[in-house]
Amino acid sequence: KTEPLAQLIGKQQAQQFYKPRQAFDHKGTYGHSLIVAGSYGKIGAAILSAKAAFRIGAGMVTVFIPECGYNIVQTALPEAMTITDKEDDLITDITYNFEPSSIGVGMGIGTKPETVSALEQLFKTAKAPMVIDADALNCISENKNLLKTLPKNAVLTPHPGELKRLIGEWTDDYDKLKKAKTFSKKYEVVLLIKGAHTNVVFNDNLYINTTGNPGMATAGSGDALSGIITGLLSQGYDPLLAAVFGVYLHGTAGSIASQTQGYEAVMASTIIDTLGSAYMSLF
Ligand code: AMP
Ligand code: MG
Repeated sequence: KTEPLAQLIGKQQAQQFYKPRQAFDHKGTYGHSLIVAGSYGKIGAAILSAKAAFRIGAGMVTVFIPECGYNIVQTALPEAMTITDKEDDLITDITYNFEPSSIGVGMGIGTKPETVSALEQLFKTAKAPMVIDADALNCISENKNLLKTLPKNAVLTPHPGELKRLIGEWTDDYDKLKKAKTFSKKYEVVLLIKGAHTNVVFNDNLYINTTGNPGMATAGSGDALSGIITGLLSQGYDPLLAAVFGVYLHGTAGSIASQTQGYEAVMASTIIDTLGSAYMSLF
């Protein structure tokens, strides 16, 4: 019987993940991400995630938001295109008129029944690789029948509270990891355990991130991560690699930002705007 694999992810590993750009590439080469996020009072989650997808290198980003987010997103992030739900303050029907290269869903969407139905429809019909975060995970936890519709190889990015609702209470770290591996295997998904030294679990494999710090314990930090992984997926990184590399770059950006600004002052926007330096620190 072979031992389950556990690997620390540091600079050496990250260097090997990196796919350099070629001179004649164009924006189509780097794909078109769809970020499905936001509800009344939480449109910022959509902006942070979409901006992170851009900063990590997605060629194009379309943001799907409730109608009330239209002016906000178009003003805060002119690079993004938008599609709006027919409802003003929440997502009820996720329709789009292009074939996304990747989808990031769940940030700030709430868990109203209409949103749960829209999510179920998305899970059943979407073809692009998907990142499932935040309230999309809460929707699943509150409606376990959605588990059956989880897209294969999706990347799930819960923080500890969301993870507990998803896989149940654990007794200790060993038990948490065991439950996470069982979940990953059963639903064939990449499952993150976010926190200091975020774990990425896929089947029996465990990847442990070495970057990041308590400066990253700030609102929107996770929205940035979901956008990062979505943006890597759109550039053709496979789901496990996008998750592991994304967590590494997110933590590296947090580390660099903290060195110049101090832990306390780091905000999610700071992490996002430092992603370029995170890439440049690789070599
Ligand atoms: P969320 O709670 O969804 O906003 O996600 C928080 C993000 O910040 C996750 O990616 C965590 O890994 C990261 N984070 C939070 N606290 C720390 C910490 N003390 N050290 C490193 N990363 C952290
Ligand atoms: Mg979050």
